[in-house]
Amino acid sequence: MKIILIGINHAGTSALRTLLAQNSGHEVTAYDRNTNISFLGCGIALVVGGSAKNINDLFYCSPVKLEKQGAKVRMNHDVIAVDTEKKKITVRNLETGAVFEDSYEKLIYAAGSWPIEIPGIPKEHSSYKNIEICKLFQHAIELVKKADDPSIKTVAVVGSGYIGVELAEAYQKKGKKVTLIDFEPRVLARYFDKEFTLSLEEDIVKAGITLALGQKVVDYKGENGSVTEIVTDKGSYQADLVIQCIGFKPNTELLPDAKKVKGGALIVDEFMRTSIPDIYAIGDAAAFYHAATETHQQVALATNAVKSGIVAASNINGNSAVKLSSVAGTNAICVFENRLAGTGLSEGMAARLGLDAAASFIEDNDRPEFMENYSKTRIKIVYDKKSLRLLGAQIGSYGNTNHTEVIYYLSLAIQQRLTLLDIAFTDVYFLPHFNKPFNFVLASIMKALGLDYYKN
Ligand SMILES: Cc1cc2nc3c(=O)[nH]c(=O)nc-3n(C[C@H](O)[C@H](O)[C@H](O)COP(=O)(O)OP(=O)(O)OC[C@H]3O[C@@H](n4cnc5c(N)ncnc54)[C@H](O)[C@@H]3O)c2cc1C
Repeated sequence: MKIILIGINHAGTSALRTLLAQNSGHEVTAYDRNTNISFLGCGIALVVGGSAKNINDLFYCSPVKLEKQGAKVRMNHDVIAVDTEKKKITVRNLETGAVFEDSYEKLIYAAGSWPIEIPGIPKEHSSYKNIEICKLFQHAIELVKKADDPSIKTVAVVGSGYIGVELAEAYQKKGKKVTLIDFEPRVLARYFDKEFTLSLEEDIVKAGITLALGQKVVDYKGENGSVTEIVTDKGSYQADLVIQCIGFKPNTELLPDAKKVKGGALIVDEFMRTSIPDIYAIGDAAAFYHAATETHQQVALATNAVKSGIVAASNINGNSAVKLSSVAGTNAICVFENRLAGTGLSEGMAARLGLDAAASFIEDNDRPEFMENYSKTRIKIVYDKKSLRLLGAQIGSYGNTNHTEVIYYLSLAIQQRLTLLDIAFTDVYFLPHFNKPFNFVLASIMKALGLDYYKN
């Protein structure tokens, strides 16, 4: 079969490898406008902060490896149009400028996403030097170089999502004076409730970072073409370097007639098929069915990119047992010794969506107090008030204690539409070395059910 793939990062690489591992008889041509593939952006902050040493270790595949598997890989090629009627694409070779057409029987659209620019900033200011975004290997090189540049003393990070908080910590470790700005009143506000973010904010401030929350960036000031200051609606902060991390928009302009969600991501079914025949969408370009919100939405994570690539490729290869029926947006972060993981909806997100949800939060020691060592762990579960169906969970442990992997089974519970009772009666072990008889997940459920007598 003649297959074209647009975009060869995490989703595209996964689809290509699966396609050709399952069936080497395909004629697959893959196009990417970039010059490298499979760069793990999750390692950027680690290299900036110095805990990962070599930025080149953040790749796990290469065009050469994919060619060896049988694909034609065309890097530095920008796909500029898709004719869904004639099943043709138009491509520009970015090295030579040559424009040509190619045709497909099946198209896998893996064009991903791109950082959103801060709106409303005058163009002549947003083009100052040292205003950066954080996505590609090329950005990472700049960000690492600037972390080691002694002339850069002050750094403003805009956006306190995962990437923003991680970068703020990384530049602070490199001795920079960091300001972290967000229009939300809390850090990580889209992922975690205040039971987790307030103590994280205390740790951020203790580390010497200025938190500028509840403020909107409105302008940049500069000197000799470089940024020097960042201006918000509530104040202004010195910044020799600004990093904009306010989110990602899907690259889906090439398919204007496909069904999309409000943000532009392509609605896909459980096999990653879009509304246009023979076109699959995967990764950040796709809007998956979210088990907690029960709507389609973009959940821009490498985990979903890889899984959706496997599903689309398997479906093309005739295997309809492989499907991605839902996602839950499971995520984790490890900053300032806060080890947090979340899945599904926070209480705040459930409220924003107008859901009839309730929440149960507990902080408890993870092991019996008769043990030599035990540590504080926090858990919050969010559930539908009437059905008691689990809608979300957040877990936090601190210092050297890590309980984030517990989120895996809570994520499965959300995807499988399980209730608090189903989860309470899951057959888990008890062993003092590892947990309490009423372990923290069970304890949060018992509290939700009004049964917290175990405490006494
Ligand atoms: C700094 C950072 C940290 C992250 N950390 C994590 C993490 O810890 N855990 C996690 O799960 N996720 C993380 N993510 C998210 C994860 O990287 C993305 O979800 C993932 O990259 C999506 O993969 P993708 O292949 O769908 O899209 P992309 O990575 O956006 O790749 C799309 C590819 O398509 C190409 N392309 C686009 N348009 C065209 C065109 N018209 N013609 C040709 N080529 C085109 C692009 O050049 C690109 O190579 C992080 C992201 C960043 C930026």
